[in-house]
Amino acid sequence: MMPQQEDPADPAHHRVDSLKESDAFHDECGVFAVYGHPEAANMAYLGLYALQHRGQESAGICSSDGKHLHCTKKKGLVAEIFTKRVIKDLPGKMAIGHTRYSTAGESNKLNAQPFFVECNKGQLALAHNGNLTNSIEVRGELEAAGSIFQATSDTEVILHLMARSRERNLKHALRESLLRIEGAFSLALLAKDQLIVARDQRGFRPLAFGKLKHNGHDAYVFASETCAFDLIGATYIDDVHPGEMILVSKDGLVREPWAPALPTSHCVFEHVYFSRPDSMVFGRSVEDSRQMLGRSLARESPASADLVVPVPDSGVSAAIGYAAEANLPFRMGLIRNHYVGRTFIEPKQSIRDFGVKLKLNPVQHIIEGQRVILVDDSLVRGTTSRKIVRMMRQAGAKEVHLRISCPPTMSPCYYGVDTPDKDELIAANHDLESIRKYTEADSLAYLSLEGLKESVHDRHDGYCYSCYTGRYPTDVVGIEQLVAEHRQKG
Ligand code: AMP
Repeated sequence: MMPQQEDPADPAHHRVDSLKESDAFHDECGVFAVYGHPEAANMAYLGLYALQHRGQESAGICSSDGKHLHCTKKKGLVAEIFTKRVIKDLPGKMAIGHTRYSTAGESNKLNAQPFFVECNKGQLALAHNGNLTNSIEVRGELEAAGSIFQATSDTEVILHLMARSRERNLKHALRESLLRIEGAFSLALLAKDQLIVARDQRGFRPLAFGKLKHNGHDAYVFASETCAFDLIGATYIDDVHPGEMILVSKDGLVREPWAPALPTSHCVFEHVYFSRPDSMVFGRSVEDSRQMLGRSLARESPASADLVVPVPDSGVSAAIGYAAEANLPFRMGLIRNHYVGRTFIEPKQSIRDFGVKLKLNPVQHIIEGQRVILVDDSLVRGTTSRKIVRMMRQAGAKEVHLRISCPPTMSPCYYGVDTPDKDELIAANHDLESIRKYTEADSLAYLSLEGLKESVHDRHDGYCYSCYTGRYPTDVVGIEQLVAEHRQKG
């Protein structure tokens, strides 16, 4: 049940221990791109609407009319920002879009994407999902050489590298820049006459590729998740492969590697929590994965109980799987108010604490007098679970058995999922029994790492599990430097 320990002799993995302030560099984002559609900005708007769960703090769209780029980005939700009038001012047949959440302190408008620049390569706009692990080092070098940065986001580094590249051809300049950066990136780059999308060599974050028919013509679409395709009636064709770039211009669509693919490190948390269940992510149905997570959890950690209740929405699919495997009734004993944002995504602790009550309400007549198995997707700080368990007891639950459909979260993510500092990760600092006591549950069990691997059908170690193991598949040198600087400052 407890997570795997690091093997210090294994040079393929790198571990970072102290993580203070590192979350300033974490983003959760959604990316969308379209080429060859007369209503490109509208398509981007709809695509971002479907990807809103990947970031609710700011959103942006840049379009190209073939001569110039047009951009709008703001803080707020997609539907608030993109009114009819705003979309009308985004003409052209190509567009890229981005929706974003960042942690406190970094949530200024300057960091909203797409980033837009006018440089020696012309007008460029860039939308990025992921996190660059060497951005501090590269940024330092660029600043020493005279670059002036407008924002704190790591994404800007890519544009500076491109502007400095001696390669005149955009594709070559992008390739040269990508070879300089490390970590996780699924990105879309828009120039006045072409669109380029690219994915890092390990495929940390998803990026799907699809086609959309319009008046007999093919438009090409790209999105973090396929749920964006469903909304606009596009067909999912493939994923952009790790190490691949796809270029679309008047000459057609060209797929080519910008670097060799490395052993994949798909983010398993996309399947556990982050992606929408109606999406295909890494070529696999998220809903199927989540139900399997619940089934595996039921096999590993059964409990004598009367019913299975999910923590909605993120725990629903796993709870359905758990109930089916355990042959217990599945009941919606907690109802979510959908007009409140994800509590975790609010930057301030005070709002987060309040948010749980705002968001969830127990259905008393379902819960009263029952022994309940409560299923949630993850337990990070533990504060949410504690409040929900209390809520269940106040509603009259006789017993509450908490089941978490992933292993204990032990280490922060450096590849684009927002996680708190290690100090705040309850499982990094407490054993199972202490966590159970804290949550006030009658019993507590997490899914094992093996159970997780089995549930996502990972037979060839193709996923990244670093948030559960602390074993990072790449060097995290930039972040180590940040930690060292922080220590020096005391
Ligand atoms: P807590 O244990 O109180 O920190 O919060 C755990 C809850 O937050 C779980 O119910 C998850 O659904 C949700 N959660 C976990 N990780 C994230 C994340 N990276 N971003 C947003 N929500 C998350």
